[in-house]
Amino acid sequence: MNIVYIIGFFILGLVFGSFFQVVALRLVKGESILRPKYSYCPSCHHRLGASELIPVFSYLFQKGRCKHCKQKISLMYPFVELLTGLLFAVSFYSFGFTLDLLLVLILCSYFVIVLVTDLSYMIIPDEVTITVSILLVILQFVRLGFWGGLIQLASGIGLFILMYLLMLLGNRLFHQESLGGGDIKLMFVVGVAVHPVLAICVIFLGSCIALPISLIFYFMKSENVIPFGPFLLVGLLFLIFLKVDFNSFLDFLRYLS
Ligand SMILES: [Zn+2]
Repeated sequence: MNIVYIIGFFILGLVFGSFFQVVALRLVKGESILRPKYSYCPSCHHRLGASELIPVFSYLFQKGRCKHCKQKISLMYPFVELLTGLLFAVSFYSFGFTLDLLLVLILCSYFVIVLVTDLSYMIIPDEVTITVSILLVILQFVRLGFWGGLIQLASGIGLFILMYLLMLLGNRLFHQESLGGGDIKLMFVVGVAVHPVLAICVIFLGSCIALPISLIFYFMKSENVIPFGPFLLVGLLFLIFLKVDFNSFLDFLRYLS
């Protein structure tokens, strides 16, 4: 029976992935999320019919082109839909019907939206971070009780301040903008989600993943700046899917020493 649920969550992820992408792109372009209510082709603005709105399959059936103007559709659309489907399926597989599942689904959704906006426009929209923050704080109070929730809220504020100080230090050292405002606000979400010590590990992990990729770009003499936000969230999801908590992290440190 479990497999039925996993497939269900995969399909749910495909649909949500498609929806997140529309929301993400409209937000960064400064368009309304509510109007128009329908989806349209970004090239010819033709309203998309039901057969053009099926995640992944529409892209395959139309061979990656708009039905009307034959303009190429970005490969990002089916990729993000598949990624969201996989993340939702793995989330259910790992956590089942628990409050932890809700936490992971919120973080996976945030990751997908940040991936779309930060990679394409180097922006993490405040609307998204604020919505995710509110949902997460409420969920932590429900999951962990009053004091547990309060500790996570304090952890979020602490991480936000730490990241802000890191930005000031970075700006001094490199004489240019080192961290974006979006990354600083994103660390509030990370702090609320996990133990503060693990949240600091997330900064370290995110940097470790981002560094080799930045070096490749540097040696290719590419002018592109790499957004940091998605790497931080990859680090966070890595810890959460491996079910690393504060105690297992301490055990790991003892094992190393
Ligand atoms: Zn078109």
